[in-house]
Amino acid sequence: MPAKILKIAIPTPLYTCFDYLAPDRCTETVRPGTRARVQFGKRQLIGIVIGESDQSDVAANKLKPVQQLLDQPLPTELLDLLRWAATYYHHPLGEVLNHALPALLRQVDSKQADANVWQLSDEGRQQSADDLKRAPRQAELLRQFNEHINGMDKNQLDRLDFNWRDSLRALEKKGWVKRLSQTEASALQQHDVCIAEKPDLNDEQQTCVDQVGACFDQFQAFLLQGITGSGKTEVYLQLVEQILSRQQQSLILVPEINLTPQLISRFEQRFSVPIAVLHSGMNNSQRLLAWQRARDNHVKIIIGTRSALFTPLAKPGLIIIDEEHDSSYKQQDNFRYHARDLALVRAKRLNIPLLMGSATPSLESLYNVQQGRYQLLQLTQRAGDAKPPTLQLLDVRRRPMQEGLSDHFIDLMRQHLANNSQVLLFLNRRGYAPALLCHECGWVMPCPRCDAQLTYHHHKNLMRCHHCGHETRPPTSCPECQHEELINIGIGTERLEKHLTEIFPDYKVSRIDSDTTSRKGSLDQKLAEAHSGEANILIGTQMLAKGHDFPHVTLVGILDVDSSLFSSDFRAPEFMAQQLVQVAGRAGRAEKPGQVVIQTHHPEHPLLQTLLHKGYEAFAETALEERQQACFPPYSALALLRAEATRQWLPPKFLQQALELMQPWQGTVELLGPFPSPMERRAGRFRYQLLIQSNQRSQLHACLKQVVTQLHKLPDASKVRWSIDIDPQSML
Ligand code: ADP
Ligand code: ZN
Ligand code: ZN
Repeated sequence: MPAKILKIAIPTPLYTCFDYLAPDRCTETVRPGTRARVQFGKRQLIGIVIGESDQSDVAANKLKPVQQLLDQPLPTELLDLLRWAATYYHHPLGEVLNHALPALLRQVDSKQADANVWQLSDEGRQQSADDLKRAPRQAELLRQFNEHINGMDKNQLDRLDFNWRDSLRALEKKGWVKRLSQTEASALQQHDVCIAEKPDLNDEQQTCVDQVGACFDQFQAFLLQGITGSGKTEVYLQLVEQILSRQQQSLILVPEINLTPQLISRFEQRFSVPIAVLHSGMNNSQRLLAWQRARDNHVKIIIGTRSALFTPLAKPGLIIIDEEHDSSYKQQDNFRYHARDLALVRAKRLNIPLLMGSATPSLESLYNVQQGRYQLLQLTQRAGDAKPPTLQLLDVRRRPMQEGLSDHFIDLMRQHLANNSQVLLFLNRRGYAPALLCHECGWVMPCPRCDAQLTYHHHKNLMRCHHCGHETRPPTSCPECQHEELINIGIGTERLEKHLTEIFPDYKVSRIDSDTTSRKGSLDQKLAEAHSGEANILIGTQMLAKGHDFPHVTLVGILDVDSSLFSSDFRAPEFMAQQLVQVAGRAGRAEKPGQVVIQTHHPEHPLLQTLLHKGYEAFAETALEERQQACFPPYSALALLRAEATRQWLPPKFLQQALELMQPWQGTVELLGPFPSPMERRAGRFRYQLLIQSNQRSQLHACLKQVVTQLHKLPDASKVRWSIDIDPQSML
């Protein structure tokens, strides 16, 4: 009998699988997805078995045996999805698998996660937390177990804001809480899943729930369009409840966990079933635990960011993508996948519905609705009795301005603050001032490593690059002309904060951006101040445009829309419109009506006019027409071949070689470039790109498929960093 050969995907940048001999005594078929410990060069690695064969291109005496086949194989469905993704994104399968698997499963000496689950005992159910006055943490833990009658695992306990271990041990000792083995936890029947009051759905919401509900157990993509506050999350909740009653799991993707605590706590408050929350702050063993518990059907609801899409699901019932337009769903390096697009593929393969929600759907999704591929569901009113805000343009041409604020807007702020309302100012530029300029000769302080200026940060007295992180002290004089008068040009959030503190000394100003919220817990504290009304004036970057509602905010000021009106990126108008509408949606969620004021020097700009007077849908329609005329996505398929290197001539040289390789395809695909990226130099590297475009997606893929395995053989391939970006979200 010929030796059995295993085809194994290994995390390397090469587009091939590697052949290994099956271990001795291995007579049974090795299941694809099995993890294998192998010697690769000098290293030991974990690879994934893709298939078996009885022949190899490698000479038999050169083949090495697999050292060990490990347990916990990848579920077949997940492996197939990832193989599909590797083909679509033209990315090496070994790296795709490496990206999608929890780190501990990729390590040679990995261990099992601690999969214990704790639950109230019968005796524990009889106890009252009030009797534990002298042990407040035990009391809190008891309360938590009462809310999670179906038990809690280590990850859920880790989400409590105190060290639960000692208190848990004490409750276990009292016999009130018991630990379940893994088998007991698997056999656990979920009961009384819905533990909180829920509102009666309005007619529109009910229609949404009915339509999606009619498609359980079959594939259908839905786009749920509804303004902020129209009750989309309530639709998700009630659908998830139905999925739970069918004993199935729901996977919910959100843009950023930090920015969506409200969504998560609504799920936790509504349901008693175990919920896995996957986010970047988790350590490796927490990740592995969540992965295993989803695979084994212990957790019924999985909420996470982009990469949570790769969670194995034992009983998948529904995939939800909240804020489907959000650009964070696209990974911007290495394996550049789009989680929304892959979710569609996964739902189709699983034969389950996919529900995508947004107040400002992406143009791609609206196009798919037009094409009949997605079913559109709409919520047109705000749930409850909150009124939508009014939007207005404030023409600031020739008006007196102080630190980026027009006098008229400051008057408006005074009125709202006097009414005990909050004001929110949106400025998507952190730091004190975005440029330092010499008053004498006009020199502007550049980043030594990027084609960009340094931003002044007042609090730390540093000049900082927002593209590469470079930091330095501000100079005392101009290096060109030695003059000492250096001035800060432009307004960042830090400067705005300082100015507002001066003109509104009686009100508390709170700045929420990545500089003020980098310390652990500081974001939560800032948000708490904002929600309670303790902070009167909120200043924020795009962090504030997502996820949060501030019921006491009645005035929103959008200060710097002008800089985004004239970008060269074809997606820029779409992003700007989404951001404007999203920020506007933060206002007036309660009884008080909201007012949104957009300061601009270009009140006649057609984009602003359409958006304000006709709304987002009309804007999207116009924008789609423009895309069609310019042959941009979704009316064509795009890919970027990027290359970067510290020496300037290398990337264009490599791309020129790639271009020649693709020449035979010229005509079926259009090849543009090589040209420098909009920011040519970043972090000391020169960056160039080649644009590959086609009206027929299949042709684009056929071209790349043929070319991609040749690229690394090009003369200059090893001298540059290169990557392929399918469906690029940004040309930067
Ligand atoms: P969205 O997700 O679209 O922003 P939410 O689901 O958060 O909207 O709903 C906005 C607010 O209205 C929330 O406080 C929610 O509890 C409430 N709400 C949603 N649906 C209803 C309903 N049918 N009846 C009463 N209140 C509702
Ligand atoms: Zn000078
Ligand atoms: Zn820089």
